[in-house]
Amino acid sequence: MYLDIERMKKEIPMTHILALYGITLRQAGEDRLAGCCPIHHGDNQNAFQVNLLKNLFHCFTRCGGGSIFDFVMKKENLSFYQAGLKIWKTFYNTSHHETPQHQTSTIKLQYHHPYLCQRGIDEKMARYFRIGYSHAGLMKNRIAIPIIDRNNKLIAYCGRAIGSHTSPKYLFPRNFNKSKHLFNIQNILPSSPKPVFIVEGFFDCLHLLKLGFDAVALMGNSISQYQLEILKQLDRAYILMLDGDEAGRKSMQKAKQLIKQENLVCKPVYLVDVIEPESLEYDFLKVLESESSRY
Ligand SMILES: [Zn+2]
Repeated sequence: MYLDIERMKKEIPMTHILALYGITLRQAGEDRLAGCCPIHHGDNQNAFQVNLLKNLFHCFTRCGGGSIFDFVMKKENLSFYQAGLKIWKTFYNTSHHETPQHQTSTIKLQYHHPYLCQRGIDEKMARYFRIGYSHAGLMKNRIAIPIIDRNNKLIAYCGRAIGSHTSPKYLFPRNFNKSKHLFNIQNILPSSPKPVFIVEGFFDCLHLLKLGFDAVALMGNSISQYQLEILKQLDRAYILMLDGDEAGRKSMQKAKQLIKQENLVCKPVYLVDVIEPESLEYDFLKVLESESSRY
């Protein structure tokens, strides 16, 4: 994958990188921050300094210094390319730039559509996720939503019915087993301190993503062993938040037990009064996120 190193160097401030790890420093001059070194974790309050103008850091005790890439390399013990890839994926989200395999051979979509607008998905976001209205084929007169695996490979499309009278509401290809996949899994980076919301539906998930949260959708209200396995491999903290209807609350109980058995770090959040995650506001979600953050 091509990484625009110069662009990242120019556009991403060190403070954004530090925020990724939940690191806070104190102001130590007009364009300088200082604190304990978050790499070697000493207790010298001045060991670690950031020059905001030059966008560089330095640990005066033992870690040395450098750019945003050096920081991620040292912090996570990664190669230059791995660190670059992580930053690129975090800040520029590759699904926009990269065409998943097989994608070109599939359906033509209309990205601006009243139904999508109504669900809060503007054209820009629709293009980004390649979600659009399909005029023809299996997904005819439906909103086609691509399901992509962790290797950025297109697995299938789900066709969401537009009218309330069309059945089924969600149309999947016959050979597709939705319990083996998670929507938006391709955008979840391993081992980040930010928790990942687990929700039921595509539009719940998209709502969270739009507000800047990490989220995946189960594409239903139950969690399978396959899905748990994928989540386990990612080594993240999770927030389980299914719909606030009766079915959703029952599923929460069941999913909670399965998650516990797998020893995932997961906080269950029970919604009430038929509330869906799609209707939740930023501030509420932000509180949940910070409560479950690992750092
Ligand atoms: Zn250090």
